Amino acid sequence: MKKRTFLKTAGILGAGILLQPLAGCASQAIQSTPEPLLEPFTLPPLGYAYNALEPAIDATTMELHHSKHHAAYIDKLNKALSGKPYKGTGRSLEEICRLADSTDAAVRNNGGGHYNHSMFWKWISPNKSVGISTGLNDAIIKHFGSMDKLKLQLTEAAKNRFGSGWAWLSVSEGGALFVSSTANQDNPLMTNVVDQPGQPIFGIDVWEHAYYLNYQNRRADYITAILGLINWEIVSKQYELAINK
Ligand code: MN
Repeated sequence: MKKRTFLKTAGILGAGILLQPLAGCASQAIQSTPEPLLEPFTLPPLGYAYNALEPAIDATTMELHHSKHHAAYIDKLNKALSGKPYKGTGRSLEEICRLADSTDAAVRNNGGGHYNHSMFWKWISPNKSVGISTGLNDAIIKHFGSMDKLKLQLTEAAKNRFGSGWAWLSVSEGGALFVSSTANQDNPLMTNVVDQPGQPIFGIDVWEHAYYLNYQNRRADYITAILGLINWEIVSKQYELAINK
């Protein structure tokens, strides 16, 4: 997926945000601007109150996760970039992820950390009424058999991630949906890093900082809770953009 697709994603997701004024319009990944998003990166608003996802995710976890963990990735990313063009390109957050590799751990880890969390706050929602698009629902049935089977694959990927990382639902270059998992703050955008590159349209943070205060070692219960919070409106929009690139 090329920069053009990123810009389309930025525009359409931004339009959705207009309907929900608190939904984090300052996110570097998805704000509604046709211009490439440049550093310095800043912490996007969460888009809802820290207690909005209770009882699934408690307010203290959300506050620490957003205001401390996410903020730290942004601070370290800006320091790592320190005003220099990254590999001589435009430096949208997606572009940085696509170019990141093992020779630059600070950019890979903190660029991924910023991107992943910026999206994660969108992918989960306190609004239970948002629905999945027909196109994505049909694709899930085609590629996984059913919604339950998709959730089972996501659960297994998230449970089996050893240590810290993420489980993903992504769209491949050929338009197929697939589930994968990455370590640390890697993500499927990182074509130089991951086995299965693609456009992530949903992800589950399985770092202990995402759940330990409330769930302790019960990662599976946390995963179940997250799967009940999916913002299908945003996920569906990202799917449509990825297959129409
Ligand atoms: Mn996290």
